[in-house]
Amino acid sequence: MLAAMANAPPVKILAAELVTSASAAAGFPAEGAPEVALLGRSNVGKSSLLNRVVGRRSLARTSKTPGRTRLVNFFRVLRPEGELRLVDLPGYGFARVSQSERRAWQALVESYLAKRASLRMALLLQDVRRDPGTDESDLLPWLAARGIPVLGVLTKVDRLSARERAARLRFFREQGLGLDWIATSARTGAGSVELWAAIDAALRG
Ligand code: GDP
Repeated sequence: MLAAMANAPPVKILAAELVTSASAAAGFPAEGAPEVALLGRSNVGKSSLLNRVVGRRSLARTSKTPGRTRLVNFFRVLRPEGELRLVDLPGYGFARVSQSERRAWQALVESYLAKRASLRMALLLQDVRRDPGTDESDLLPWLAARGIPVLGVLTKVDRLSARERAARLRFFREQGLGLDWIATSARTGAGSVELWAAIDAALRG
């Protein structure tokens, strides 16, 4: 508890709340504040990182809550720098999902990525210990087609020694889908400040 407090992000969050959860494009909220989409396989640590960067313990549910995993969740975040929405897209990469479930997931994610006018940046989350695969690379053309910048976000870096971490970061910077990568940990808060700086730079640009 004390360690978690000590590592709280030095980022000021004035408000953070769930706007809505949508199971289809018709349920997306009206376009508004700039949106930053979070993409990643289920279990990558997306909910944990989202909670960490907004300094709220349980705003985004973890993957243990199955109800929300097929939904697009829109979170409003107010900071002194301005307002934005973090958009949590459903986790993909379930080994055992059926073809029809996979198609439904793709249709939902693509309906968001292909058409959302407020979308300004995407974060592609990747467990630092895994290599990126087609689940990750398949999404990039949707974003490239619209000129949406994508930042690679390595998760759970606390699970590696400093030496292993440096080696993995080098690997991703050389062979990680051509993206820029930053190293984060929801557990320690590592990388939160860099992540906000990258988001602010993209929203300004
Ligand atoms: P999601 O399915 O992508 O939303 O993933 P969750 O946030 O639910 O995390 C999946 C699992 O990874 C949970 O058991 C978390 O406790 C664990 N986890 C998430 N982030 C971290 C992290 O930064 N460090 C470590 N060691 N474990 C993490």
